[in-house]
Parts: sequence; C-alpha cells; structure tokens
Amino acid sequence: MLSPGKNLVKPRRLLLALAASGVAAMSHAAVPPVLVIHGGSGVITHDLTPAKEKAIRVALAKALENGYAALKAGKSAVAVVSAAIVVLEDDPNFNAGKGAVFTHDGKNELDAAIMDGDTRRAGAVAGVQRIGNPILLARAVMEKTPYVMLSGRGAEAFAQSIGMPLVDPSYFRTEERWQQLQKALKEDSAGKPHQDDETTKHFGTVGAVALDTDGHLAAGTSTGGINDKRWGRIGDSPIIGAGTYANSDCAVSATGWGEYYIRTVAAHAICMQVSQMRVPLKRAAAVVINQEIPALGGNGGAIALDAHGNIAIPFNTDGMYRGWIDASGVPHVAIHGDEDDGSSAPPAPAPADSTGDAGGQAQ
Ligand code: ASP
Repeated sequence: MLSPGKNLVKPRRLLLALAASGVAAMSHAAVPPVLVIHGGSGVITHDLTPAKEKAIRVALAKALENGYAALKAGKSAVAVVSAAIVVLEDDPNFNAGKGAVFTHDGKNELDAAIMDGDTRRAGAVAGVQRIGNPILLARAVMEKTPYVMLSGRGAEAFAQSIGMPLVDPSYFRTEERWQQLQKALKEDSAGKPHQDDETTKHFGTVGAVALDTDGHLAAGTSTGGINDKRWGRIGDSPIIGAGTYANSDCAVSATGWGEYYIRTVAAHAICMQVSQMRVPLKRAAAVVINQEIPALGGNGGAIALDAHGNIAIPFNTDGMYRGWIDASGVPHVAIHGDEDDGSSAPPAPAPADSTGDAGGQAQ
C-alpha cells in the first residue's frame, strides 16, 4: 500500500536518482525554492487606512524577505517557515504574537503549529500566555519532545526547561485589540451578536508554507485565535490536519473561522486530494475553501503549496493578507480580493468530477 504523501515522484529526487545513474545532463535543475505566507483572511477593504495598509504590505514583504533569505541559504523548509512567521508574530498588525486578540477574560492565549512534510513530524502549542514567538515553541515541541501538542502552563514549563524566555503577558497588548474586546463585551452584555466587521470577520492569523531546495515542504501557523473567545477555546491553527498540515506532496496553512476548519479537517483534506487522488493543488484547495467550508456556514482562506512549486491561495472572504515568491524568485504581496496580483480571480467552485490544471500561480 502506498503511504500518504509518498506516491508522487518529486523532481528533485528524480534528478538525484538520474544524476547518480550517470545522466549528467539533468543534474543542473534543482527544485527552485518557493515561499508563500498569509496574515489572515477576511480583510474589510474600507476599514484599512492607507497607513495600516502600507504597514501590512511592508510587514508581509519583510516576512517574505526573511524566509526567502533562509531558503536561498539552503535552510530547511521548517526553518524557513519559522523565520517568516516570527516576523509576523513580532508585528502588532497581526493576530499572532504581539497584537494577538484578547479572550473574554482579557487575556491573550496563543496557538501555533508547525509540520515537516518530509518526515511528517509535527509540533504544536495551544493556549500559551507567556511565549513571545509561539511558532518557535511549536518547533521545539517537534524537535525536542516525543509529543506533538503541549498546552498552557505545561507548554510554558517546557519552554523554560529549554531556556526559552517567558514574556510578561502585557507584551501582547495593543490598544486596537483591547478596544475590539471592549466592543465585543458590550455586545455580549446586550445579548447581541458581534456586529463589528473587524471583530467578526477579520482574522489576522499568520502562516507560511515553503518548498526548500531539497524539495521538502513544511507548513506553519500562529494565532491569537478569535476575539472574545472563552473557556480555553482552541481553534484550528494548532490542530494538525485542520489549520496546519504538510506531507511530501503538499503543505497548507489556513486562516478563518477555526471551528469549520476543524470540522472539515481542512488542511488534511486538501493534501489528501493531492497525495492520494492526484487532484491538482488549486482544485483541491478550492473544493475545501470555496465549496465545503462556505456550504457549512464558515469562512476564511488558506495558502497551499505542492512539491512542484505550484501555489494556491483560495479564500471566500473580501480579501486576505498574502505574499509569495514563486520559482521566478520575484516577491508579490496582495491584500484585496480584486487585486491584480498576477493571477486570476478566486477560483470558481470545482465541478465534482473535474481534474483541471493546477497552474503555478496564486489563487
Ligand atoms: N483560524 C483561527 C482560529 O479559529 C483564526 C484566524 O484564522 O484568524 O483560531
């Protein structure tokens, strides 16, 4: 039986095999590295001031630059994903690390996960309150423990045991996120559903997927979760297969209404179509993000990358903070849904029996 993720022959491996068998003419073409990032879906165009939009574009470009420098230096996909995500966790404009949303109780509880597609090792942390860069702790869980997911105080004790500094919880606070919570609390006490666009529709989770020069994939995601969340709620981001997944054929990081991504096991559902059913990446991602999740009442987006360097960035919201550097090596950053970013409009829902072209471009 073929194991998931092992049934596509990757160009890099094929080239190595050919080179080893004396087919020297093929040895020049390694897989060009690719990096795709997101800073959350659901952007409401009119809410973005020019200054904020600029800050977000600069941050996305910086995360791409940081990650791509690691890729070009021959670092692993896992290292690249962490390098890109750390930049976004440190930036208060995103709902991850500094700038995370608040819980109903006025705390910041952070979730993150990372997965190495080549080995399918994974690490995750959930509900941590004193870790400045949860993606680094998730990576440490993967690399230094026999576990996949650690939560809360235990995760923080593990961080201390490996010398990772704890931050004061006030580090995460931004006035903007605090005001979002105040607004939600008022609505809660009036028994009203949350009305505010930013509160209900803007998810600022961050994530990255990368294909390194060895042809290996990785995916990572980091988030503060959802504004006004209660009772230790954990979303999809740190759940392997829901918000984050990678195997040797496909890597996905999701953003959106986490409960729906958990219920559809969204990231895994995309990758299983690619690995086992040979569905082109773009089609596989569209089926889950543009069909399955909205059909249940959820919303959001995802970034997806396959072992050939094909990219898909589907979303069913107004926009999505996103950036990518494909095989051409040129960085791209986009925010709005209608942005001319060198790709087509978000894909139409895929016909159930169709197996169209994956393409190599975003969306
Ligand atoms: N998916 C995240 C969660 O539900 C939120 C987000 O993507 O912004 O926790």
